[in-house]
Amino acid sequence: MARSLALAALLPRLSDDNTSNLPCAPLPQLRAPLPQLRFARHPAAAPPTPCSAAAAPSVRRSVNSLSSFFTAGFISGFSWKPEVKDLKLSSGFKTRARAALNSGVKGADIPRQWYNLVADLAVKPPPPLHPKTLKPVVPEDLSPLFPDELIMQEASNERFIDIPDEVVDIYKLWRPTPLIRAKRLEKLLGTPARIYYKYEGVSPAGSHKPNTAVPQVWYNAKQGVKNVVTETGAGQWGSSLAFACSLFGLNCDVWQVRASYDQKPYRKLMMQTWGAKVHPSPSNITESGRKMLQMDPMSPGSLGIAISEAVEVAAANADTKYCLGSVLNHVLLHQTVIGEECIKQMEELGESPDIIIGCTGGGSNFAGLTFPFIREKLKGKINPVIRAVEPTACPSLTKGVYTYDYGDTAGMTPLMKMHSLGHDFIPDPIHAGVCRAGGLRYHGMAPLISHVYELGFMEALAIPQTECFQGAIQFARTEGLIPAPEPTHAIAATIREALRCKEFGEEKVILMAMCGHGHFDLPAYEKYLQGKMVDLSFDDEKMQASVSKIPQVVPYN
Ligand SMILES: *Cc1c(COP(=O)(O)O)cnc(C)c1O
Repeated sequence: MARSLALAALLPRLSDDNTSNLPCAPLPQLRAPLPQLRFARHPAAAPPTPCSAAAAPSVRRSVNSLSSFFTAGFISGFSWKPEVKDLKLSSGFKTRARAALNSGVKGADIPRQWYNLVADLAVKPPPPLHPKTLKPVVPEDLSPLFPDELIMQEASNERFIDIPDEVVDIYKLWRPTPLIRAKRLEKLLGTPARIYYKYEGVSPAGSHKPNTAVPQVWYNAKQGVKNVVTETGAGQWGSSLAFACSLFGLNCDVWQVRASYDQKPYRKLMMQTWGAKVHPSPSNITESGRKMLQMDPMSPGSLGIAISEAVEVAAANADTKYCLGSVLNHVLLHQTVIGEECIKQMEELGESPDIIIGCTGGGSNFAGLTFPFIREKLKGKINPVIRAVEPTACPSLTKGVYTYDYGDTAGMTPLMKMHSLGHDFIPDPIHAGVCRAGGLRYHGMAPLISHVYELGFMEALAIPQTECFQGAIQFARTEGLIPAPEPTHAIAATIREALRCKEFGEEKVILMAMCGHGHFDLPAYEKYLQGKMVDLSFDDEKMQASVSKIPQVVPYN
């Protein structure tokens, strides 16, 4: 699709990018010598296989099978063939003695397969549509943006997908992540509930995002791709991708939402430390960025705009692919290592969750923890309530409309059926520069989560930010960890539930997704501690205006 864009021809190549006005200008020279250094320090991470003659047949084969895959998948609406061989839950785990289990739960191991919930859904999610023809997308539409294996995963109906050994090797740097009982928080609240949290902040970037950044970069490297581009809001995703690129020797360009670029210097420095080049978005490097700047030279940017910029660059450069940190099926898939590990860890403890709570921005950490549990729920083994929490300032699940909409502001991505506030919705807090919801500001919700929500497998609520930070402070002062702004929503909802349990004397087991630490988000804590944080009301009228610009398409489902 992107290749057909007339504007692609107008784009400067990445190498023409005039970076003289950017703070990271001297970095490109640094880039060249770094890969050797990196490979020396990470012998496990072999240099990416070039697209050699030997590798070519398998690539071709995968493209061929892709076409038939999409014919059988997207176009016919994901017809589902049950695969008996995949029914053994434990087959994805390889017993591996690991001395330094930081989880405090013995026997937990790194999963060897990701779980694809689509395989177990009787009603398949509606297919993404080409933004120009409005027909279901085919692999060729996506291949300017993604490597073949990720396109295949995006449309896959397989229940389990093997995690490449190279990726498992890198996961070992921080996985398995700990599952911790919040005993001191329980005591503070005086609740009979038992609260557990699965903590993803132990990754090098400090969140769950490297779980998908690493495989995304690995598949790109395997296909011989040299450059990847992406957008980032708060900087969590950009830094995760920069980290993954540093391991595999790829160049990484990140468009960071202007407001965060200015306000979050440390995330930017992390990206630069890992060798990435960071551009504020909107930038004058791309057509979509220039258009936004023409309309508003002071534009604070948004994730939607930054996505447009990165997609545009990937579409115009044959050696460059695009990576997305949330929303897409393959991203949710990669995050299921969280839930697979957690199922084992809970079993070890002889516990089973009555309720699972997580925050949702694009939905990936939430899906990562909950989808494997939803599988067990569908099997009838357990019956936990699955609860998503979003900020009242950007409530795509609880207030957005379920419709086909673009993933970006300029309308270059496929149309996806999802809960959306409208692709050109810019949450007010970004304008005001005081939003503390960090990575929860995307206008849409993952299509797969939106679908699961419509099917009634989960529920959602929105919580205002002061309540979230109040909960975060209670959490920090009992459990020690300082949460990222996003999981403060999960914490606030967990506290609500724990207090409800206290009121009704219920000994429920609450499992919470603690998806990252807040060490680079301390200005938000400063605001809260100084009593300067206010709750922002959601502007319904603005959403209506934005929703009215969503294209009307004939649904395929
Ligand atoms: C990016 C991010 C989120 C939001 O993204 P999801 O895809 O909804 O998980 C939440 N928490 C943290 C720590 C993040 O970095």
